[in-house]
Amino acid sequence: MSHSSFYQDVNQSFDRAAALTDHDEALLAQIRACNTVYRVTFPIRRDDGTIETIHAWRAEHSHHKQPTKGGIRYSLMVNEDEVRALAALMTYKCALVDVPFGGAKGGIRIDSKLYSTEELERITRRYTFELLRKNFIGPGVDVPAPDFGTGPREMAWIADTYMGLTAGELNSLACVTGKPLSQGGIRGRLEATGRGVFFGIREACSCSEDMQALGLQPGIEGKTFVVQGLGNVGYHAAKFLSQAGAILVGVGEYEGAIYSADGLDLEAVVSHRRDSGSILNYDGAKDLESTKDVLEQECDILIPAALEKQITHKNAANVKAKIVAEAANGPTTPEADSILAESGIMVIPDTLLNAGGVTVSYFEWIKNLSHMRFGRMQKRYAEESFGRMMGVVEDLTGKKVSDDMRRLSTKGADEEDLVNSGLEETMVSSFHQVRDTKLKFDGDSDLRTAAFVVSIDKIALCYHELGIFP
Ligand code: NAD
Repeated sequence: MSHSSFYQDVNQSFDRAAALTDHDEALLAQIRACNTVYRVTFPIRRDDGTIETIHAWRAEHSHHKQPTKGGIRYSLMVNEDEVRALAALMTYKCALVDVPFGGAKGGIRIDSKLYSTEELERITRRYTFELLRKNFIGPGVDVPAPDFGTGPREMAWIADTYMGLTAGELNSLACVTGKPLSQGGIRGRLEATGRGVFFGIREACSCSEDMQALGLQPGIEGKTFVVQGLGNVGYHAAKFLSQAGAILVGVGEYEGAIYSADGLDLEAVVSHRRDSGSILNYDGAKDLESTKDVLEQECDILIPAALEKQITHKNAANVKAKIVAEAANGPTTPEADSILAESGIMVIPDTLLNAGGVTVSYFEWIKNLSHMRFGRMQKRYAEESFGRMMGVVEDLTGKKVSDDMRRLSTKGADEEDLVNSGLEETMVSSFHQVRDTKLKFDGDSDLRTAAFVVSIDKIALCYHELGIFP
């Protein structure tokens, strides 16, 4: 069995898809290559006065569209290979969902749980300074976002540092996305990736033929699911799935995992973990021996939402789910992919399923560049226009609509409505684009390969139209 790196795994998936296209070899080599990687170390003063050396990276995989875009991760697993792999996935993801960015990713090798808020702020601000010094951040250059171990707080520090160092730059707020609302963020960004995961799963489950092949009924309602990683993406995916009637039966976190075939109450699990400091010993669920065992539990849908390389040649044969929904980036190795395919398990790939985050980040970037909230100009006009239309209908029919019905039918779209609608449209249309491509290859392809083919074709078109490649 090979022990390939994460970046090699991504390239293996790329090569498999590239072989199904007829693009020029040199063009494929350019698309596949990681253009630039910046590695930096800097000292940080800990609260106890000691000095620590911090290791950080930023990879820009492709500049076929600019700026480049991708999250910043704080984790002990961060290294050059990982940021290259994650940046590559960002390139394919952005192309797939028609978001006009090249792919990038950054990371700092720290366990954020072991640092105080003040220490994290010093690390984040210094990292931003180092990125700016080398032109690796800017609204038209490279735009970071949250990822594993980071969130709106870190994005606010990044924006504030960038703006302090580039006084007078009109569009400086667009240097990073995933910011808090008061700092130029957009409504719906926090939950966007998880909401997108939900839309993707819902769409997959709505295809009757595909569900029949898996031995499942169409629809989300009543389907059981397991989540590994109850962070931003995992929690929100679980929340929207539960609201749609799916049943959460297992949760895995770094400290352990729990399972109950009768179902778990998501909010009760979250508050139990907050109060007791652990997910374990939750009333009405059994503790699993090892946290990774959560991947092998009985369920319809398995959602890895933590880190890469979780489903490997070692455990893939034990996966009992019918659908593996990749909320995390790179959770399934290529070897595991083959094993899952042999078992007839559907894998909804990361580049498609977790693209909701970058989609809404794109909306936030546009909002920052336009300096105006979505819906501000149209909302009231639309409401008045719908109201007049309703009046015409009432006059013509001689009937009155109820106040509730009037309120519902005349509501103009605000920022959150527009963001969620744009996200839903993106996830639904991208899913079908990938599924249709898979059907075209008739057995030679799975959803991951099909998603890569769609991305490669779109990026290739960019280069063709530039006239660089034949
Ligand atoms: P997060 O830091 O909010 O959450 C990660 C969660 O996983 C945490 O609760 C953490 O405790 C848990 N975890 C860590 N190690 C674990 C282990 N060994 N087993 C089980 N759980 C473990 O991060 P996130 O933003 O939710 O990102 C999760 C995944 O989703 C990553 O792969 C990330 O690249 C991907 N992703 C995130 C976004 C986004 O918008 N945040 C967008 C696209 C993809």
